[in-house]
Amino acid sequence: MPENTDNLNNERDTQFRALLEDLVKAITTSSSRETLDVSSIYDIVGKLCRHFRAGRGVTTFYENEAAEKRGDGDLYEAYNNGNASDIDLTQRVVTGARTIVISQVFLENGAAPWTQLERERIDMIQKMIFSFVSRSRLQKIVEKLTFYDRDGYPNLPNFIRHLQIQSQNGGLKNHAALHFNLRHFSLVNQKLGRRTGDTVMKAYINQMAEFLDEEGMVARIGGDNFCALCPQDKLPRLIQMLKSSTIVYDEITGDKARVSATAGIYLIPDDFRCNDNSDIMDKIVPASILARTGGGDHIVYYDRRMDKNREHFMMVQQQFAQALARSEFKVFYQPKVSVYTGELVGAEALCRWFRDDQIIPPIRFIPALEQNTDICRLDFYMLEKVCRDLRRWQESGKHLVRVSVNLSRKHLLDDDLTEHLLEIIDKYRIPHRYIEFELTETTTDVAFTDLKHAVSALKTAGIAIAVDDFGVGFSSLNLVQDIPWDVLKVDKTFLPIEDDNVLSRRSIMFRHVVGMAKELGLECVAEGVETAHQVEILRDNNCDIAQGFWFDKPLPHDEFEKRLEQHFYHIDD
Ligand code: C2E
Ligand code: MG
Ligand code: MG
Repeated sequence: MPENTDNLNNERDTQFRALLEDLVKAITTSSSRETLDVSSIYDIVGKLCRHFRAGRGVTTFYENEAAEKRGDGDLYEAYNNGNASDIDLTQRVVTGARTIVISQVFLENGAAPWTQLERERIDMIQKMIFSFVSRSRLQKIVEKLTFYDRDGYPNLPNFIRHLQIQSQNGGLKNHAALHFNLRHFSLVNQKLGRRTGDTVMKAYINQMAEFLDEEGMVARIGGDNFCALCPQDKLPRLIQMLKSSTIVYDEITGDKARVSATAGIYLIPDDFRCNDNSDIMDKIVPASILARTGGGDHIVYYDRRMDKNREHFMMVQQQFAQALARSEFKVFYQPKVSVYTGELVGAEALCRWFRDDQIIPPIRFIPALEQNTDICRLDFYMLEKVCRDLRRWQESGKHLVRVSVNLSRKHLLDDDLTEHLLEIIDKYRIPHRYIEFELTETTTDVAFTDLKHAVSALKTAGIAIAVDDFGVGFSSLNLVQDIPWDVLKVDKTFLPIEDDNVLSRRSIMFRHVVGMAKELGLECVAEGVETAHQVEILRDNNCDIAQGFWFDKPLPHDEFEKRLEQHFYHIDD
């Protein structure tokens, strides 16, 4: 008899060892793979359960203790023969990541109780399962944190990983990569509220993801910036969606919003290899910036010349600090003139960079400085120079005029902007009525409320604020109505030219924009006035002030000083 029991024990022992070996093997091979193979492991766990006369084996995973209390966990049932008793062996483990794993094995109804040795063996298996399950779950959590953003959109690492995998499998053939920015999204948020804005964005991106399906993908880079991968035969339809989509954001009421985007597109060549971020981002981002800020086409395809641009950007960024320290940036003043009297009523301070006997215009360096906050340093520098000049002119008894300084929208991220600006103005004891700030309306990366806040604060301090380049970018009536601007500067693209008759689109637009500005009590300045005929048009439309080559180009300090002394321009009646 003892021999028989021994034999039986030996047989069970061998069976157990074989199963254990299989389990170790399955866990190790599975761990060395990208994704864990749960089914092969549970298959072995099932056999082990039968071996130990268990009716059921489950593991439950909780993300944290609170989730455990709520009973909100993920249950993995490795085995269930439908005949479990309530006698169980339970283990609970809190992992280093504060996740909780509970493993339970239930004895089968009517089966012989577990021996001490069996209990020890079950305990050992449970410990092995712990490390496996928590690893598999942690992998999911890490995946979620690494490859999705807080709002659940796939993120940049996800996009790059996808490209890399596709690139290895030849899956990028005949595809295009895109970077796009939603237009006016801050206005959508402002109009519909943040929550509905989020819903609109989600619906828009979901619609796109559905359209791209398995053959492509769309990921959020941050804010209202996205990347996408798209098969080239679907590109025309995708571009249509980018240019304009109507999104029904409330199924019940049928309420809709229109969403459009500017995009940079790279047609991926057959021999393209994606090794890291920059391989693709260096192509689609500059194209996208051009699409957003170029003022022309809202869809721009990458071309090689953009690489040159990038080199130029880097060169400017490298030289900037030194150039600032060496005072290579100079203020030029462009007069603003009353179209009725010819009186010099103001001036705009415009920056020029003197380097190696060359004068570099702003278009060659401002976009590079706007990539980071260097532009803010330049603007403060310009303000300081303007204040110093105003102080000197005042002390030498000149008839002062209000000078406007351009402020990049990047400043609006600075909570203490008003204090910083006033500090400089007051240091030179400049009466506030002699300072004006111009803010462009072309960028959307700043929240509307920040803009409103900054404009109101400066206005309270008695400083005039102008909306610059009105008409290009996202001119919106909301922007003009809801923010207390003092001055509206109509962009030169709105100004009728020689061939336009009074019924041309440009003439009509100009008339209405000026009319609206007046209606709202704003001072109206037309930029880019180049001919006597245009001065006349301004007068006919009650646009009081002109700035442009017809009167003067931006002038160096000394020449502008002469204009201050003359104070009037000769204008024909
Ligand atoms: P902006 O503020 O709209 O300045 C007006 C631009 O129109 C100036 O170009 C000016 O020279 C040009 N302009 C004036 N009259 C005429 C005209 O009759 N015909 C034509 N075709 N153009 C005219 P500029 O000086 O090259 O400056 C370009 C832009 O660079 C400015 O546009 C402004 O946005 C930016 N900028 C210049 N200086 C600064 C600065 O100190 N800080 C910041 N943040 N931006 C600046
Ligand atoms: Mg300006
Ligand atoms: Mg302008």
